[in-house]
Amino acid sequence: MRKITSSFVCIFSIFILLPTITPFHAVQTVPSSESNYTYGFIGTAVGSANAEILTKKDVLEAIVSQINETKFKWFDSILANTIGPRPYYLVSNMEAAEFIANELNSTGSIFATYQWFTYAGKKILNVIGTLPSADPSNQSRIVVGAHFDTVSDAPGADDNGSGVALLLEVARVLSRFTFDCTIEFVAFNAEEDGLVGSNHYAQQALESGEDILLVINIDMCIWDNPSAPSNEKLWIVYDGTVSYEDCERFADSILETSYTYVMAPIQKISSTNNTYVSVENWRRSDQASFWDAGFSALWIFEFNGFQNPYIHSPADSMDIESYNFTLGTQAARVVAATVAKLATPFIVDLVPPTLRIISPSVGYKVESSKLTVTWIGSDTDSGIDHYEVKLDEGAWINVGNNTSYNFAELNDGKHTVYVKAVDKAGNSVEHLVNFTVDTTIFPPMWTVIIALVPAITVSVAVVYFLRRKKPANITTFVP
Ligand SMILES: [Zn+2]
Repeated sequence: MRKITSSFVCIFSIFILLPTITPFHAVQTVPSSESNYTYGFIGTAVGSANAEILTKKDVLEAIVSQINETKFKWFDSILANTIGPRPYYLVSNMEAAEFIANELNSTGSIFATYQWFTYAGKKILNVIGTLPSADPSNQSRIVVGAHFDTVSDAPGADDNGSGVALLLEVARVLSRFTFDCTIEFVAFNAEEDGLVGSNHYAQQALESGEDILLVINIDMCIWDNPSAPSNEKLWIVYDGTVSYEDCERFADSILETSYTYVMAPIQKISSTNNTYVSVENWRRSDQASFWDAGFSALWIFEFNGFQNPYIHSPADSMDIESYNFTLGTQAARVVAATVAKLATPFIVDLVPPTLRIISPSVGYKVESSKLTVTWIGSDTDSGIDHYEVKLDEGAWINVGNNTSYNFAELNDGKHTVYVKAVDKAGNSVEHLVNFTVDTTIFPPMWTVIIALVPAITVSVAVVYFLRRKKPANITTFVP
């Protein structure tokens, strides 16, 4: 019992005395974390200068919403009604080419050129509209193509005024945006005479080693085939004779884009499918020229357009009741969004990164001359470019993508450490933490030893005192 008492007194003394003899002086941390934002942007998108947050999804939605059915129908009507039949050997063929080139040039960011070549002793041309890449080092291109010629007596509202109308409407909308990859809008000539213009273009591209990521050919996209399932009014014809990576994956990309942004009634079909027609029919438009040259190419085509009773005749006009311009506009939305997605739009990033300083935390006490600053940061739009750190009035130190930094030889007293995160668009966010360094604090081991001396002294004194009070050798006398 006494033994326990003296131990208790001893421990109790340490706890009582320790705070009074430990030099806890002058340690004051100033809890503070402040933010400071600056803004920047890259590229151009929807010309809004306010602080709108634009992600890739926003850009694709903007593109889809700007595709306009009235414009689509107007382009088709100029070709079918105003210009009319336009086989390669008529003056109207050149009128159509000039109309297409003027429309492309009127965008202000697409420039049109003529690709001349000789066919059957006649000089004819393809029209090539180029929307240049924002990155000159990126040589890859995506081609949107459609033939603009017709057979001799057909106004060609569907074959292929619809494909050219789609091309012009997609060009009009995409020209307002900036992409990482060049986009070419190519109107092919003399398709009706054996894919002549597309074959010339594809062979030239092959010889000059052009880096064509994908060709999307549009030939006939407005006939609402009454025998088509409601979710399959349009086809994406892909080359089913090559590996998945070479063609079908692009068809899947179109389907995914349609599902996400448009919900068009479109399905994919392989060039090896003989459910509807014998397979040689899948070569009946300009994509076959690119398949032959080894390029990835797709054909956007109305459901089993081989059955269209109006084409290649004077009946192929704007007045056909089953010509559905909403369907053609849906196809344009799908093509525009897919091309934009594959060409990688430049995103306007007006949002600074997020940043949090992990250490030193609020209330942090620094008892040595070294400090490790650690933080976490992220940026969802353009991504983190680098971090910078700064101590007090010192210079900013670029630490790249590291998320910690060591400061040494800190003087005693108050300090401020700053961390800055900068995203790839140049937006930045800055945080700071105030802390105090005090190296005069005794190390913990010495604190304990010093505290033990008076504690043990007091304990010994108490024990001695208690022992003295205790009666010694009590003898009981029995009378
Ligand atoms: Zn055609």
